[in-house]
Amino acid sequence: MLDFDTAQSRLASAATPPSIAEACALHEAHGRVLAQTLFATLDLPPADNSAMDGYAIRLADYAPGKRLPVQQRCYAGQRPDALLPGHAIRLFTGSILPDGADAVVMQEDGNETDGGFEIQRPPVPGQHIRRRGEDVRENGQLLAKGVVLGPAQIALLASQGYAEVSVYPRLKVGILTTGDELVQPGQPRPAEHIYNSNGAMMAALARNVGADVVHVLHALDTSESLHDAFDRLLQDCDLVLTVGGVSVGEKDLVKPAIEELGGAMDLWRVRMKPGKPVALANAGGKPIVCLPGNPVSAFAVFTLLVTPLMRSMQGRAVIMPPVQYGRLAAQRPFHDTREEFLRVRAEYEAQGLPRLLPYPQQGSGIISSLPWATGLARIPANTAAEDGTVVGYYDLQYWLA
Ligand code: AMP
Ligand code: MG
Repeated sequence: MLDFDTAQSRLASAATPPSIAEACALHEAHGRVLAQTLFATLDLPPADNSAMDGYAIRLADYAPGKRLPVQQRCYAGQRPDALLPGHAIRLFTGSILPDGADAVVMQEDGNETDGGFEIQRPPVPGQHIRRRGEDVRENGQLLAKGVVLGPAQIALLASQGYAEVSVYPRLKVGILTTGDELVQPGQPRPAEHIYNSNGAMMAALARNVGADVVHVLHALDTSESLHDAFDRLLQDCDLVLTVGGVSVGEKDLVKPAIEELGGAMDLWRVRMKPGKPVALANAGGKPIVCLPGNPVSAFAVFTLLVTPLMRSMQGRAVIMPPVQYGRLAAQRPFHDTREEFLRVRAEYEAQGLPRLLPYPQQGSGIISSLPWATGLARIPANTAAEDGTVVGYYDLQYWLA
């Protein structure tokens, strides 16, 4: 048996990071991985400007009860004249600060009547001024290569005038489900068959991690059917994920099918529950990961073992999401010779660690545990965990992103 952490790092290091990049319009770059470290093209803000609707003044001109003639009104997007001594210039949020001004008085702190502005609260030097470059300095690093572009990153790049960015190609993933007992949802179901849930699940999981799912195929438990599927998958995809048919039963033909393709294959019994049989193969330089068929096992193995490999193939800088901690809130103790990953729901309180409630049924076929769970709690092998024990928590929000 292979221990869990070794399996995870072996899979992650089986990835070849992307070697080419492509141009992508910024407005289509959501979820893409930056292929180049980017630097600021300009100071942000590019000029001193007003943070408020108000009046630009010289502090030296202030005296209680004194009215300053309003020299000019300057809206955002316009350029003001230099401020004349003893005057005020009407500004709005984002208006450029006129030369000579050293404070902005917000309109609520004074009164404009008959073209004059009277300040009613003593101003402080520099107040309500946003200084040139206080946010971003020209030539400073904006975002590092390997960052995933989300709304925040896209906002920063847009503010710097980037209309196009260099990103890595989307990872092309192919899914193969196997089994004579399965029918596709939407098809008539003979009583002795079950619906194929892993196909739809695996496709959604891979998309969640930002992959382009090119094929979702199903093969019967015959070598011809498997061969045909692998031909198509290996032609069009960078990474192939198979589900089921990889134990040591008579109908477990995935391993022989990959070996007949000339692929080298390591079949591991990973010391984890759920999800023992996991295999990593390489056919023509492309990784194939074989996941166990039980839906919950496939879900857990994908989350914990396959996503780091995928992130690495995507060129991401961070491939291991954080593992957090929580306190088990369990009715019964858990203890196993394998590393156990419980489907749990985290409940956060104002203080302290979240409480982790295990789903009542923890079997590897219990699909109803999946939409209920917010994450997986890790019970170390050969260690008893009971109510109150602090355990590792793999939050699906991070692990499936
Ligand atoms: P296997 O590893 O092929 O023996 O599958 C293990 C268990 O998972 C069996 O009970 C299968 O019926 C079930 N299973 C395998 N593939 C799927 C699938 N695509 N959808 C739902 N259940 C599956
Ligand atoms: Mg099967």
